[in-house]
Amino acid sequence: MTDLTPMLKQYRRIKEQHKDTFLFFRLGDFYELFYEDAVTASRILQITLTHRGKGTSHHIPMCGVPFHSADSYIAKLVKSGHRVAICEQVEDPKLAKGIVKREVIRVITPGTITELNLLDSKSNNFIASFSPPGDFCGAAFIDLSTGDFRISEFQPENYLEPLAEQLRHFSPSEIAVPEEFSFPERFRKENLSSILTTSLPSWQFSPETSLRNLLTHFRVASLDGFGCQDRKGSISAGGALISYLKETQKANLDHIDRILPYDPSDYMLIDSTTRKNLEITKSLKDGSRKGTLISIIDFTLTSMGGRLLKNWILNPLLKKDDIDERLDSIEELLEKGIERAAIREKLRSIQDIERILTKIAIKSANPRDLLAMKNSLVILPQLASFGEKVSRSLITKTVAEIDSLEDIHQRLDASIAEEAPISTREGGIFKDGFSRELDELREINRTGKSFIASLEAKEKKRTGINSLKVRYNQIFGYYIEISRANLAYIPQDYIRKQTLVNAERFITPELKEYETKVLTAQDRIKELESELFEKLLEDLSENSSRIRKTAERIAVMDVLVSMAEAAAMNDYVRPRITEGDRIIIKNGRHPVVEKMELDARFVPNDTHLDNDDNQILIITGPNMGGKSTYLRQIALIVLMAQAGSFVPAQEAEVGLVDRIFTRVGASDFLVEGKSTFLVEMNETANILNNATSRSLIILDEIGRGTATFDGLSIAWAVVEYIHENPHISAKTLFATHYHELTELSATLPRVVNYNIAAKEWKDEVIFLHRLERGKADRSYGIQVAKLAGIPKEVIERAKEILFNLENNEFGKDGIPKLARGSKGTLCSKSFQFPLFSEPENGEIIIELREINLNKLTPLEALNVIDRLKKKIKE
Ligand code: ATP
Repeated sequence: MTDLTPMLKQYRRIKEQHKDTFLFFRLGDFYELFYEDAVTASRILQITLTHRGKGTSHHIPMCGVPFHSADSYIAKLVKSGHRVAICEQVEDPKLAKGIVKREVIRVITPGTITELNLLDSKSNNFIASFSPPGDFCGAAFIDLSTGDFRISEFQPENYLEPLAEQLRHFSPSEIAVPEEFSFPERFRKENLSSILTTSLPSWQFSPETSLRNLLTHFRVASLDGFGCQDRKGSISAGGALISYLKETQKANLDHIDRILPYDPSDYMLIDSTTRKNLEITKSLKDGSRKGTLISIIDFTLTSMGGRLLKNWILNPLLKKDDIDERLDSIEELLEKGIERAAIREKLRSIQDIERILTKIAIKSANPRDLLAMKNSLVILPQLASFGEKVSRSLITKTVAEIDSLEDIHQRLDASIAEEAPISTREGGIFKDGFSRELDELREINRTGKSFIASLEAKEKKRTGINSLKVRYNQIFGYYIEISRANLAYIPQDYIRKQTLVNAERFITPELKEYETKVLTAQDRIKELESELFEKLLEDLSENSSRIRKTAERIAVMDVLVSMAEAAAMNDYVRPRITEGDRIIIKNGRHPVVEKMELDARFVPNDTHLDNDDNQILIITGPNMGGKSTYLRQIALIVLMAQAGSFVPAQEAEVGLVDRIFTRVGASDFLVEGKSTFLVEMNETANILNNATSRSLIILDEIGRGTATFDGLSIAWAVVEYIHENPHISAKTLFATHYHELTELSATLPRVVNYNIAAKEWKDEVIFLHRLERGKADRSYGIQVAKLAGIPKEVIERAKEILFNLENNEFGKDGIPKLARGSKGTLCSKSFQFPLFSEPENGEIIIELREINLNKLTPLEALNVIDRLKKKIKE
């Protein structure tokens, strides 16, 4: 360290405090990275790696990016899960004695991004923190970019699953934990693989320190006002998180002005499997918005509204009054089409005030952000006046609570120039008349410049040299340029500064005098504007609570208007919410499938579910008939209704549902080392253990991932259990190709059979997509296989086998005659019947299937064989 240059010493000192972080070290117009940072960053950013002090003992790898385009490089590093510390020169290099002072002014991590262009405008970006189990246990979630702060308390003895569920709910991009804590390996693999883990000193999680941090932050004497009593675990997580954010952002974060305890039981529970299966916000295919419920119903016009709509849809309500309050307002807005169109026109111009507010709080806002804020605030009085046009409670209350923020608008209007630049360093931010000092400096600058501009004409006249020019460059400042041919005519007072090939450059005392005036004024203007801008940000920050509340009201207004618009555009009706147990839908439609390009019109279907006679509907029907679509459509209608939205149906009555469960298709868990069947059974177990009589269960096939008889037996037993167990007795829709299950209706009184109709015509199947009472007689699997392009020979042979099967053609030896072809030969010898003839050993077979040979050591393999051998029932 001793023989390093002062600059590198400074670098090393700062880097020491920011290990595991790319240090962007400001040198003039560049951010430079050194040593390991440079090697790794140059690879990720694909920029050239160079070296300082090549061939010497101080051979240092380095790379750099221009400061004015650093954002995109920082974004790339942060998006790929890294931290970046921005180290700036914090004094004017011209005034610095010795090496210029540098400090880290901000650390950007995946969970602390506030740049609008790096964030998805319609999604939150949470950072989490976790206080591990001891006497208590909890988590906190903050979206720094919007100021949302949620906390959750867990039982210390049972925290893993609830925490996993909340991680899936908030999908944070970073999680902070105490440094000596680590999650169990499997939990980490399943839940944290795409989340950056940040270790913080353990003392930051101590309950006393955390509570003190929060009390200081909110400037309160107790957190009880936020409903945080008895939430020690989450307070400990929350306090640690606030101090981490303040440390990385070097700001007060006044915009985070309250804590909201998050209790999943306040909302209809939609676990992550169901959220995924119903494709509410992300498609199963590629995780995008396309083909999701939100993509169909989102007519919001502001980013804040977009985020809130997502929130409402993922957290449907449980109280009839709360839901009706939303529905009432939507009904009114739906009726008032002209007013709705007018308000939508206004909402369209409102920018992301919430996120701009965050930028103001952490002092990263630029003049254009404030212009965007100003142009949004100007609309507020017009939004507020909308109150006269509505009468229903929620919309009226919301509009009444919009603060028109006229004082803030006026302040912005009087200060920021219309054509203000993005940068805060170059001047030109403020309007004339905003600051007297600034006006004076600008006047000096203007007169100086116009004097210099007029000088050219004056000197041409004085010297008689027509080609004389007054120019400016960075090195000499202003100068007079005379071509070589005219040198004989220059006046006495010209002072030579530089000789070029064809010309010479001069200055005059008068020119220099004005130049000094102009340049000094320009420097001072930049400095003063920067100071004034910082001061303006501070003033605005003091009003963050008011601005934030109004932003929240705008979001509610936007969502209600959006839901009314969706109802109008998509032909939805108001559902009738009841405390009863019936779900009755007339001509219901799948909100997403009905919008797809179908061969024919979407066929609406009715639904009747209750806890008395129609508790379990067994739905059979051809492949491709529309069973899955129908099941999902009911779940989506219920979910939409309880989120307060109108629904795709002709009429709908929804008795409140506490939770929707789905067991649908095969999920792709192979990467996690779980078999399809195991996942299927995990999901089924979850349903059987947690459903209540108020739940809605969607079962799209159970037991397909195993042998037919095992699968059928499990499916059968599951239906019996749901029917017979009074703790569950949940309303259930079960789509299946096991036609045997339709026999359950003969013995279980609340089981009803339905089928999706299809017709056969000239060996082709025609899908009617219409739900009918009663069971289907067949699945038309072979016809669908034909549609899919399976070779003709295979189709013909399949028909032959099907015929044999349907005629129960088993030989005495247990070998089915289906193996026989039309020529009477045995086509295949590889049957699995001997395995099935020993059902008592089924457990061993399942275990054998589950074994992952790639993960077993030879010794483990021997142990497994030994264990299985002992299990064999002779
Ligand atoms: P499988 O048993 O093979 O899983 P399925 O019976 O579950 O099939 P779906 O996947 O629900 O069938 O539907 C197949 C296709 O049929 C859908 O992609 C859609 O194009 C069309 N479809 C489904 N329901 C309807 C409907 N009610 N009206 C019109 N088309 C429909």
